[in-house]
Amino acid sequence: MDRFVYLDNSATTPVKPEVLEVMLPYLQTEYGNPSSIYKKAASAEAAVREARKQVAEALHAEPNEIFFTACGTEADNWAIKGAAYANQHKGKHLITTQIEHHAVLHTMEYLEKQGFSVTYLPVDAEGLVSPESLKEAIREDTILISVMMANNEIGTVEPIRELAAIAAEKKILFHTDAVQAIGSLPVDVKELGVSMLSLSAHKFGGPKGVGALYIKKGTKIDTFMHGGAQERGRRGGTENVAGVAGLGKAITLATQKLEAKTERIMALREKLIEGILQSIPDVRLNGHRTKRLPGNVNCCFRYIEGEALLLRLDAKGVAASSGSACTSGSLDPSHVLLALGLPHEIAHGSLRLSIGEQNTEADVEHVLSVLPDIVKTLRAMSPLYSE
Ligand SMILES: *Cc1c(COP(=O)(O)O)cnc(C)c1O
Repeated sequence: MDRFVYLDNSATTPVKPEVLEVMLPYLQTEYGNPSSIYKKAASAEAAVREARKQVAEALHAEPNEIFFTACGTEADNWAIKGAAYANQHKGKHLITTQIEHHAVLHTMEYLEKQGFSVTYLPVDAEGLVSPESLKEAIREDTILISVMMANNEIGTVEPIRELAAIAAEKKILFHTDAVQAIGSLPVDVKELGVSMLSLSAHKFGGPKGVGALYIKKGTKIDTFMHGGAQERGRRGGTENVAGVAGLGKAITLATQKLEAKTERIMALREKLIEGILQSIPDVRLNGHRTKRLPGNVNCCFRYIEGEALLLRLDAKGVAASSGSACTSGSLDPSHVLLALGLPHEIAHGSLRLSIGEQNTEADVEHVLSVLPDIVKTLRAMSPLYSE
């Protein structure tokens, strides 16, 4: 069987043909440096300007509030370190959650070593952060709160508007990692009330190696990448012109007809969830049943290892992930699943299937036709399992 089913869209997505098309000229004939003043460079400068406008429109921001970065990870690093250092005279306390992406968690851990103190908010069994727990964690010296918009492993969507309102009331900066949200949820920075928001092109049909940080006008934040005068002097480095142009096109496409698109994806998700729960015993669906990314399915299969499951799915042409892509290769169970209160032995047997725009009903049916047998075979080999 030659069928290939890509269900790892939370790890990365294929570049859309229309996106590639707008990128190509800047890798070929339009190679000028956007900072140069001669005519040859004008098209590159215009491409970056157009992309900034496209990102601003998608987020309901102003173009001068959009700063291009090398990736989502850089946007998170910049937001958190930049805001921490620029505001440390007011206090050195930061708040985040236990389920953030490592781009946020490891940045917070680094800042702890630099003398900041960090509160890691717990989540409930579905992965939700409670506004009450945020209120209780806020101190006189709190300068920054960072909570992700949607979790990359379990898909839980956090109540960002409510959390950001609590921060605003106390005049504390609020950052959200919206890398998983763009193209899956409506994202309006004004309505959300956030001071900073991170995104990454390759998670919504754009190229790898380019992201952006929204910084609300007036937000105090240090420069992260020191160098030339690019990005209004706040992020040095010659622009990734092709990548930036691709990001602009990708965010426009990803946010168009969002409702119709996510409705279709959600129907595939429901079919997949129902199919798994009905055909396989001892399965737990992780994350919130409804407050979840339209394309996210994350399950724990008792008595088996996630890695073994992935290898057998791969042999059947299914690309999926266990825990988060960044931790596969390590045997530590996912910090997100542990934060839900799952014991280690269950957190090890997790599978994430993330559905994207290119997936079809036939893809879901293929997974449902191979997964029950794989689970059965692996359980038959497990010393922990008895029927
Ligand atoms: C993928 C991802 C990132 C990192 O983005 P890169 O562009 O790959 O560096 C950060 N946060 C979340 C939630 C992600 O899913």
